Amino acid sequence: MKTTEFKIWMNGKLVPQAEAVLPVNSAAVFYASNVFEGIRGYWNEADDELYAFRLAEHFARFRESMKMMRFTIPYQDLDLYEAVRQVLRENEAREDIHMHLVAYVGGPGLEATSPTGMYINPRRRPRIGDGNGLNCCVSSWQRTSDNAIPIRLKCGANYQNGRLAALQAKADGYDSPIFLNQRGTVAEGTGATFFMVRKGKLVTPPVTSDILESITRSTLIESLCPALSMDVVERDIARTELYVADEAFFCGSGYEITPILSVDRFPLGDGKLGPVTQRVLNTYMNVVRGTDQRFPEWRTPVYRPVTV
Ligand code: PMP
Repeated sequence: MKTTEFKIWMNGKLVPQAEAVLPVNSAAVFYASNVFEGIRGYWNEADDELYAFRLAEHFARFRESMKMMRFTIPYQDLDLYEAVRQVLRENEAREDIHMHLVAYVGGPGLEATSPTGMYINPRRRPRIGDGNGLNCCVSSWQRTSDNAIPIRLKCGANYQNGRLAALQAKADGYDSPIFLNQRGTVAEGTGATFFMVRKGKLVTPPVTSDILESITRSTLIESLCPALSMDVVERDIARTELYVADEAFFCGSGYEITPILSVDRFPLGDGKLGPVTQRVLNTYMNVVRGTDQRFPEWRTPVYRPVTV
């Protein structure tokens, strides 16, 4: 993996990482008053092109998070497209990239809503679990609920809930936690939504189960699974269903499709990557990179000119 540092796009300018700093008394630093998106870009060797995946959907969710947080930013979606393309182009990124698109409150105080700044931080991020599956546990930490700190809102502060559960899982010898919500049904992972295969069906919790409205989740439900002749059922999942599932995986922009091999030490199926997960994984990876050329509207090229 290359180690050169990427410059950061911050409020319209490209700056070295050491200069991309926020005041210690800003609400962003002290209260984690920010909202963000995690977006991947995939290098396609044959096309000599870097494709950013589903920017339109990420920008739409970014705006929903900002609305709930009462943030405003002086950028239209067209400016955001150009900022993403510019930061990757000017960093000469010709490899797989993960980036954080962040809006933050630069002023002090809990109720501050301004000034709102923005930065885009491209970074290298290997596959979760090195591409192998994860051994998970059901967390004793509960997913925060919609009336407390809503997970639909993608703000940095929410990830403290994930941090508590992730560190607990590691301390107990697991790779990753699965959250239940206040109702006791399955919610999601720390940074990924959850799918399982049971009795020949793909099942995932509904968007009202205290989960983020994941873009990867909709990619699978609305397009990729139907293209594989697999329908996805959206319904509550009970804890014990996890133990008797044939297969399960996490999905997300960062997690891509990451197999879950066991839950609370119960192996799922034969405890290895299962056939359904394998098919979903292959299709997803080919589509995001553009080696499978379906759904071109999802891939924004960074180097060639585009009209968006
Ligand atoms: N849930 C949480 C809490 C997340 O942080 C993420 C990653 N953004 C996901 C689910 C998956 O969402 P997406 O597919 O949009 O990346």
